[in-house]
Amino acid sequence: MSTPRVFNFAAGPAVLPLPVLEEAQRDLVSMPGVGMSILEMSHRGKFFEGVLKQTEADIRKLAGVPDDYKVLFLPGGASLQFSMVPLNFLPRDGSADYIVSGAWSEKAIKEAKKVGGTKTAWTGKEGNFSTVPAQGDLTLDPNAAYLSFTSNETIHGVEFKYVPGTGNVPLVCDTSSDMFSRPVDVAKHSLIYAGAQKNIGPAGIALVIVKDEWLKKRVEDAKLPTMLNYAIHAENTSMYNTPPCFAIYIMGLVMKWLLSIGGLDGIHAINLRKAATLYAEIDRTGYYKGHAAKDCRSLMNVTFRLPSEALEEKFAKEAKAAGLDGLKGHRSVGGMRASIYNAFPEAGVAALVAFMQEFEKKNG
Ligand code: PMP
Repeated sequence: MSTPRVFNFAAGPAVLPLPVLEEAQRDLVSMPGVGMSILEMSHRGKFFEGVLKQTEADIRKLAGVPDDYKVLFLPGGASLQFSMVPLNFLPRDGSADYIVSGAWSEKAIKEAKKVGGTKTAWTGKEGNFSTVPAQGDLTLDPNAAYLSFTSNETIHGVEFKYVPGTGNVPLVCDTSSDMFSRPVDVAKHSLIYAGAQKNIGPAGIALVIVKDEWLKKRVEDAKLPTMLNYAIHAENTSMYNTPPCFAIYIMGLVMKWLLSIGGLDGIHAINLRKAATLYAEIDRTGYYKGHAAKDCRSLMNVTFRLPSEALEEKFAKEAKAAGLDGLKGHRSVGGMRASIYNAFPEAGVAALVAFMQEFEKKNG
């Protein structure tokens, strides 16, 4: 008999919707009407072309992507976007603003510094990234090439509940860990990117949504490698080279699943319920302590501590034995991190809450 599935709280790659895995499994060896696996067919063939087109159409429908934005599927994950954004949009003698709200925005600004000037619009480093700034806390350069922020910091578990206003400065968002977890106002952004392996699909691919008008204002750099040029990918509808076909196919199935459960409003309601249940348990007695300030608690990555590191070790070990996997937090925050992405079932949150209550009773 096959191994039963555990509740997978991993930060990414992360849990995928069961109907998606089942459909992929059913069709893996021979795609109905084609007679070969999606892993074996040409990316230039009719079938894959259809997959790509349908996936894009579903993303546009799901997120209400305006017509004057391109939807791109790019290799290299979100980390490559840390470089592609400045390489394409930061004039070498110019400056870009970055909000540094956690480990991932720290990595983003580090890459931008290799390309041009940067200014830190705000940093939460002193408080070990336990909060995000209010609009009024931002120091914005009106001449910045763009402002970059990370809507959800996966490691620290802090999430923006608003889209920063920038005046006329283009806005760039790394939304890797909360993409499609709630409605998104694409029109407020010039470029949005997300690594797929949390809410969208398998690792190694990034979804990029970019405004046409901004694409036209790209920095001219004859030395920019072709594969790092957004315009080339846009002109070739993400098919300049062989795209990550399987990842796009799975992404397409995830989009279909999201649409079937009520789109972004539907999943947002579920996500609010899951997060509220878990944070209520964290706050119930004071035994567990949330890392993030209450007004910016992530709906996706719930970070919390126990009274001692020894108890945290014990908690992670016993939880794993009880079928609650992947709860150990990142070393820079310590403690626990429960990643409860879109596909994470409500039953898993209930199981974790029951486990937390039992653990506190025995070890409190
Ligand atoms: N940004 C955020 C917010 C992330 O959570 C991650 C991955 N955990 C990345 C960027 C990097 O993604 P990738 O590993 O796909 O390069």
